[in-house]
Amino acid sequence: MTSDDAQQFASDNYSGICPEAWAAMEAANRGHAPAYGEDAWTNRAADAFRALFETPCQVFFAFNGTAANALALASLCQSYHSVICADSAHVETDECGAPEFFSNGSKLLSVRTASGKLTPEAIRATATNRTDIHFPKPRVVTLTQPTETGQVYDLAELRAISSVCRELGLSLHMDGARFANACASLGCSPAEMTWQAGIDVLCFGGTKNGMHAGEAVLFFNAALAEDFGYRCKQAGQLASKMRFLAAPWVGMLESGAWLSHARHANACARGFAAAITDLPEVELMFPVQANGVFLRMPPDRMEALRRRGWRFYTFIGGGARFMFAWDADPARVEALIRDLRAVARDRAA
Ligand SMILES: *Cc1c(COP(=O)(O)O)cnc(C)c1O
Repeated sequence: MTSDDAQQFASDNYSGICPEAWAAMEAANRGHAPAYGEDAWTNRAADAFRALFETPCQVFFAFNGTAANALALASLCQSYHSVICADSAHVETDECGAPEFFSNGSKLLSVRTASGKLTPEAIRATATNRTDIHFPKPRVVTLTQPTETGQVYDLAELRAISSVCRELGLSLHMDGARFANACASLGCSPAEMTWQAGIDVLCFGGTKNGMHAGEAVLFFNAALAEDFGYRCKQAGQLASKMRFLAAPWVGMLESGAWLSHARHANACARGFAAAITDLPEVELMFPVQANGVFLRMPPDRMEALRRRGWRFYTFIGGGARFMFAWDADPARVEALIRDLRAVARDRAA
């Protein structure tokens, strides 16, 4: 049996706060500072984003990803518009209707996908399926990078999607709850993966990459950011002690930790997957391109793993999901591999 605080791979948000974010928060905690984002930390964090993305984007901070996504999408829509997303998208399956709520009713048009990835063809078909007054007018596409199944859109795929969006008059939003893992995976710059590929708005996740909380909303098109600050305040997302949402970003971005942590997490996922693919009746459900590994295996084997103290989710397609965080411990990854092998042997015996 494992102790309560033993590392699990159920989710990357089981992890704690990384040293870089923690040190910046500690530094921000020395004394008083102006509230509501008027402080030096908030300016410095916004500047760090503009340096990293090589563009003068508008930067906002929200407490979590649900709020960031919902408010970003609401800013791109009128209530009579619709938002095209993949069927497994977090906005569709895990936000309790927040995008619809904050947009005052904009409908999500969920597209059936094999692995959570949207295609230009599917977007075009969905956006042009109905053009009559009785159906909410398609106005936005949201994609998740990497997807909820750990797939990464490459630059060519992103450009192909944004070109269809331009042609059809759709804005393009990226849910980047694990944006760093996608950058680490593709080895491209944040600029290449966003505004240079036609992304209008990015939600850049900090929580799953080692922060205590917080997501940044980046608008690459300044006109779309109009009044976004009011939207955040109305939704309860304007932190009065904003410096504690901003400072961790300074720690993460200025040190490069945002990327090195993601590289480590991705490497753990790849190493884990490579170590268990020879097991009978264990099948990778998706190629491993970021920090998640999805395994199809017999239910009794999942039960046996759970009896050995392992926690994991089975909410995507019934497979076991393992997520590797910024601090994934190679010794615990080894222990999981050993237990997977052991339960395979028990079953064979
Ligand atoms: C975790 C996650 C979010 C944000 O979730 P919160 O719990 O609201 O912070 C958004 N999108 C995706 C794809 C996620 O995995």
